[in-house]
Amino acid sequence: MPVTHRSHASIRFAGPGTLLLAALLLAAAPPAAGQEMTVEAYEPRSTLKVAGGPVTRAKFPFVDAHGHLRGGDPARIDQMVKTMDELNMATFVNLSGGSGEGLAANIAATKGRYPGRFVAYANVDFSGIGQPGWGEKAAAQLEADVLAGAQGLKIYKNLSMFQTDSDGKQVAADDPRIDPVWAKAGELGIPVLIHVGEPSPFWDPWDEHNERWLELKMFPRRRRDDPARFASFEQTMGEQHNLFRNHPDTIFINAHLGWLGNDLARLGKLLDELPNVYTELGAVLAELGRQPITGAAFMEEYQDRVLMGKDSWDPIEGYHVYFRVLETRDEYFDYYRKRHAHWKMYGLGLSDEVLEKVYFRNALKIIPGLDRSLFPE
Ligand SMILES: [Zn+2]
Repeated sequence: MPVTHRSHASIRFAGPGTLLLAALLLAAAPPAAGQEMTVEAYEPRSTLKVAGGPVTRAKFPFVDAHGHLRGGDPARIDQMVKTMDELNMATFVNLSGGSGEGLAANIAATKGRYPGRFVAYANVDFSGIGQPGWGEKAAAQLEADVLAGAQGLKIYKNLSMFQTDSDGKQVAADDPRIDPVWAKAGELGIPVLIHVGEPSPFWDPWDEHNERWLELKMFPRRRRDDPARFASFEQTMGEQHNLFRNHPDTIFINAHLGWLGNDLARLGKLLDELPNVYTELGAVLAELGRQPITGAAFMEEYQDRVLMGKDSWDPIEGYHVYFRVLETRDEYFDYYRKRHAHWKMYGLGLSDEVLEKVYFRNALKIIPGLDRSLFPE
């Protein structure tokens, strides 16, 4: 019975000294790498085997209605156009066109060299708001910028968040002193793409329950949970919605699903109430990708009101995730930016009719001067 013999032997040698040595060795042993890893480094590879796979080219030519491009280095623009061709991106809308001379230079470097492939939006300079005549001056500048080739107006989130007037008071989105600008955009027939506010979790306590905990850890300045410094999420959104209500003859593209992508029923109500409001998908694809049933129903119902947009050129692979969420019924695949979403994506499987509207038909309807020859009839 050799087994019994061996176990007897080990028991015999496991005296107090041996046990102490074993305990010391255990205490000195470094923790396994798995124990030292942080949650930020955790990137599990799914073992799930299901049909589907990457989509590297959109099914239809599309307009990226929410892009940013600063500087006009010709080699960079050439490379961009090559990549756009690979993605089936017909037109890139640069929301950071600027104003005046900067805008003219931007237009010359982009659509000046590749007509139809680039669109520039103008931006408003809010410094000086509060001084007499500011609104009229800003509206006149917008008119000049549209004459110079701008095809829309982009409003950054500094309005409603950081922008102060000449008395040092924060300027709300529905501040009547800006009215001449909104009226001018309506008169010129250009859309206003407007980003007001932030994802609502930025206002929530920054704790273990916060959906954007990682993003706030990476960018703590994005926190909005200090009521002494920031109006509440509800107030900020309410002011923006008032602005839309006050200017029914101006088309607004409410950026980032209006930060209501986590409450599509509420966003639907807003779109029902305000026919002058559209929305787009910049940086909020993960909202649709985590609710494929509700998300697909929303996209079906509001197919005439949503535009394709990504919000950042890089990473290019992010576009592939957009195509996959919108076009396929794939299950449980990775998103491209961990700080936005630590969850997996599911495809909405939108019909060709809905896809065409989101990819280009809605843009053709509201952005003037797009090159129709780049899109199917
Ligand atoms: Zn943006």
